[in-house]
Amino acid sequence: MKNRYDVVIVGAGPAGIFTALEMLRQGTKQSILIIEKGKAIEKRSCPKHKVGKCVNCKPCNITTGFSGAGAFSDGKLSLSEEVGGDLPSLIGAEYAKTMIDYTDGIYLEFGADPHVEGLGFTEEKKEIRRNAIAAGLKLVDCPIRHLGTEKAQEIYYAIEQYLIDNGVEIEFNRECLNIVIDENETCTGVIVKDKGEEVVIDAGTVVIATGRRGADWLEKLCAEHNIAHQPGTVDIGVRVEVRNEIMERVNNVLYESKLIGYPAPFKNKVRTFCQNPGGFVSQENYDNDLAVVNGHSYKDMKSDNTNLAILVSHNFSTPFNQPIEYAQKVGELTNMLGAGHILVQRFGDILDGKRTWPEELSQSNVKPTLPDAEAGDITAAMPYRAMMNIINFIIAADKVVPGFASYETLLYSPELKFYSNRVKMDKELTTNIKGLHCLGDSSGWTRGLMMASVMGVIMGRKIVENEQK
Ligand SMILES: Cc1cc2nc3c(=O)[nH]c(=O)nc-3n(C[C@H](O)[C@H](O)[C@H](O)COP(=O)(O)OP(=O)(O)OC[C@H]3O[C@@H](n4cnc5c(N)ncnc54)[C@H](O)[C@@H]3O)c2cc1C
Repeated sequence: MKNRYDVVIVGAGPAGIFTALEMLRQGTKQSILIIEKGKAIEKRSCPKHKVGKCVNCKPCNITTGFSGAGAFSDGKLSLSEEVGGDLPSLIGAEYAKTMIDYTDGIYLEFGADPHVEGLGFTEEKKEIRRNAIAAGLKLVDCPIRHLGTEKAQEIYYAIEQYLIDNGVEIEFNRECLNIVIDENETCTGVIVKDKGEEVVIDAGTVVIATGRRGADWLEKLCAEHNIAHQPGTVDIGVRVEVRNEIMERVNNVLYESKLIGYPAPFKNKVRTFCQNPGGFVSQENYDNDLAVVNGHSYKDMKSDNTNLAILVSHNFSTPFNQPIEYAQKVGELTNMLGAGHILVQRFGDILDGKRTWPEELSQSNVKPTLPDAEAGDITAAMPYRAMMNIINFIIAADKVVPGFASYETLLYSPELKFYSNRVKMDKELTTNIKGLHCLGDSSGWTRGLMMASVMGVIMGRKIVENEQK
């Protein structure tokens, strides 16, 4: 590692790596360093597969390392500009769609499956939409390219090798501690940890792409360096798991049923997210020991269940404007009740006002795919407003997916999505600090693999455009 580069990218998630990749594709001559606090993709592995439970790796191998939260993710590329965050409101929906198609082409070049889920079935789709309308829900059309967890790792490994072979330096196991801002409000570099010492690396351009896990770190940077931002949204919800038979029709026709509703009495936005046919519910651990639930599916290994998230968006303004902290408290309380484990409860028990007991889970058709989830009472920790939104949304969704609101339907908690702290940027992805750009999920503008990758591609192009001026 040298002490000066033209471009320093913090975070080797999709946003960071597609910045470097697109710079190479556009013929850059600039030196590029990527700083990543996790490992190279080929060295990432989650011990849970061997020992059967989460051993709290620091940093977590599931969410850190080359390709970020994307490596072990389900690898579902959403090919619609209506899904994956608010980037289209910044750059324009049409341009966003063009860039999705271009970026999808890059994934194909690196070996993604050419098959796209969710196309065709016009009549069946119409009927599902009719039922959604009758239930007061909006159905969003979103074709999906499903990489699958194993394939996603192969594709990202190929990208990692391509970057290294083409001169991009990647420093793994290296954490960025801060950025350097000079008296002219220009970002001139970053401060990293090197064998216990703090080392400054100078850079002409700094790109922060630290993902969901780096959102609270970036929030601290914004406060310290007056980076213009606004409090964003957090999503609080549950991961729902049902038998595949219940979801069979929507799984076949849509692959992912993206439903949005505003249920009474609160009329907050509630949506489905990250649907995994034949998938597995999983646990993610944040650095502050917060255990949250997630889900993924493999291309070849299938379970008997489908899982998906139901999320309720929360915004705060005054006097309280710390959405991340709010969601963390909900998560901590839920973890406390589960003795550090994810809590699971049957939907019918929630309506009956009772906890679920472990032996009751075995009476159902649906068997939990997260075996170390603790049967209990999620309603003891979930705020009333969020819980009512979720209950009423599930009842409405039952009109689209009969059986969805069954007694045995499993609800896992806490499912938290931290998108907070939206960094204020213009179309050029420029912040109010010269030389500093913020991308991907940590910037608050994206929420998914494709949109984070697209933001990286746009960033890469902008940097090379400026280089060639
Ligand atoms: C289990 C799981 C399943 C998912 N499934 C899907 C899916 O199927 N489809 C989909 O579209 N999205 C999915 N997602 C979300 C998707 O992975 C993210 O939206 C996407 O990875 C965001 O990309 P990013 O580059 O912004 O950030 P990330 O992928 O989070 O990458 C950020 C990187 O920055 C590094 N970093 C953070 N702080 C520092 C620091 N201070 N110094 C150095 N490095 C740092 C991290 O180690 C990480 O590698 C899933 C997420 C998870 C966790």
